Amino acid sequence: MEEKTEKVKSEAVQIIEAFEVLPKLVVFDLDYTLWPFYCECRSKREIPSLYPHAKGILLALKEKGIDIAIASRSPTADIATAFLNKLNLTPMFVSQEIYSSWTHKTDHFQRIHSRTSVPFNSMLFFDDENRNIQAVIHTYLLLTFLSMKIKDGVRRFTIIHVLHTHTHTFDVNSLDHHRCLKWE
Ligand SMILES: [Mg+2]
Repeated sequence: MEEKTEKVKSEAVQIIEAFEVLPKLVVFDLDYTLWPFYCECRSKREIPSLYPHAKGILLALKEKGIDIAIASRSPTADIATAFLNKLNLTPMFVSQEIYSSWTHKTDHFQRIHSRTSVPFNSMLFFDDENRNIQAVIHTYLLLTFLSMKIKDGVRRFTIIHVLHTHTHTFDVNSLDHHRCLKWE
């Protein structure tokens, strides 16, 4: 493992260990959440790269026994899947739901729930697009969520915020995007 990834992972593990209540499953979007591009604009032959902290955080979640899954509406699932394979990430996910959908991501979540049996209130969801989060919230009010309105993807401070949020009764209306932005 790269030294930088190892460092991010150990920092993330320390942060996770500080919390008593943890999610059972963390669901990630792909485009502009785990990697900085839309895969429909790329070629399968390219070598993709993740946002700098993404791999370390995924590894930390796995190490702490927290499952991870993908919910992506990418219209080019073949490219997304090829990229996940090239990045050696595929075996890490308990469920990979990658397909276009008019319902935003509610059906993605239903399938993830069917496959894993994890209750929605034990899942966390990372997505850079508010509409996906809103769609899921309308269907599953218990789902804890966080909109990642940040430019460079999954990062350490985001985990702090998510875990903090998860340990308290969460009011959907209290989400403060600006606070997330300031934490950069
Ligand atoms: Mg996205």
